[in-house]
Amino acid sequence: MMIVMKQGASPQDIQAVVDRIESVGARAHPSKGDEVTVIGAVGDLEHIARLELEGAAGVDRVVPILKPYKLASAQLRHGGRSVLDIAGRAVGGDHFALIAGPCTVESRDQLLTAAEVVKDAGGTMLRGGAYKPRTSPYAFQGLGEEGLRLLQEAKDVTGLPIVTELMDARDLDAVLEVADVIQVGARNMQNYTLLTEIGRSGCPALIKRGLSSTLEELLMAAEYVLKEGNEKVMLCERGIRTFEKAYRYTLDLTAVPVLKELSHLPVVVDPSHAAGRRDLVEPLSLAAAAVGADGIIVEVHPDPENAICDGPQALRTDDFARYTAKVEQAAALAGKALSAQVA
Ligand code: PEP
Ligand code: MN
Repeated sequence: MMIVMKQGASPQDIQAVVDRIESVGARAHPSKGDEVTVIGAVGDLEHIARLELEGAAGVDRVVPILKPYKLASAQLRHGGRSVLDIAGRAVGGDHFALIAGPCTVESRDQLLTAAEVVKDAGGTMLRGGAYKPRTSPYAFQGLGEEGLRLLQEAKDVTGLPIVTELMDARDLDAVLEVADVIQVGARNMQNYTLLTEIGRSGCPALIKRGLSSTLEELLMAAEYVLKEGNEKVMLCERGIRTFEKAYRYTLDLTAVPVLKELSHLPVVVDPSHAAGRRDLVEPLSLAAAAVGADGIIVEVHPDPENAICDGPQALRTDDFARYTAKVEQAAALAGKALSAQVA
C-alpha cells in the first residue's frame, strides 16, 4: 500500500501516519519526493486497510502497489529515480559509477597497482573479492580476512570506496569493517537470509542477477534488503544463461531500460562476467553506458595472464585510462557524467 501525502502535509501529519502503520505491526517506509512525501506501508494488507488512512490529516490518497515487489517498485517514487550516496559518490540520476578492480584480491602489489590505476583514470569505486564463489571447491576461494585487510589499505591509499562480495553472513562483521558496498553474487541472489542480514546492516548493496533469474526475481531479492529499511540498493545485470555457447553468458541489455521502468533503483552492468573475454568487454561496456545504465562494474588486472581468477576477461591496467575515456563518452550520450567524489 502506498500513502500519498498532500503537498502541504506537515512533519507531524507524516509521523502520525507512520505511527499508525506501525501500530498494526506493519512497516512504514517514508520517502520524501520533490513535491510530496509518499509512505510505503508493507505488512498485512487487511490490517493496513482497516486503519482507513484516507481520512487521516495530510493524506491525499491511498493506492495499492500492484507489483509483488513494493519498495523496489517505480510506483513508489512516481517514476522518479533513487540517487544513492555511497561514501560521498552519487549513483543514479545523471551520475555514472565506474566500479573497477580485480576479480579477486591476490596480493598487496596486485591490488594496490590496480587501485591506483582505477583512481587515476577517474574510477568511482574499487572492486575486489576476498571471498570468492567458485564453481569448483578445489579452486582458490579468496584470501578471506587477509584480503579484507588489503582492501582497507587500498582504500586508505586511494580514497576509493570499496565494493566486495559477502557470501556467508558469518563474515558480515568483518566485511562491514571495510565495505562501502556489499556485493551479492549471482549465485547468492536468492539467499534470502543473507539478503535480510545485509538489509539489517544498512550497508549499501549491489545485487547481481542470478544466472537464470527473471527480472521479477531480481527485484524480489532487492525487496528483501529494502524491507529491512536499507534503501541503498543497486541492481546488476551480469549476463544470463542461454543456449548460446560462443561466450560465457548472454548480457541482457534489454534488462536495463526495463528494470528502470519497473523500479526506481540504479541499474549497473557487469560486462566482464557476461563476456568472459577481454575483447568483448569494451563494446559491451559502451553499449551498457549508451543504453542508460547507471554504472559499470568491470574487472581490471595488472597481469591478467597470471591472474588466479578470471584473467581472460580482465582489462589490462595499462589500457584502463583509454577504456575509461571511451565509456565516459558513451555515458555522456545517455546524459550521464562519471560520478566524482562530492567535496
Ligand atoms: C565477481 O564479481 O567476481 C563474480 C563472481 O560475479 P558473479 O557473481 O556475477 O558471477
Ligand atoms: Mn570475477
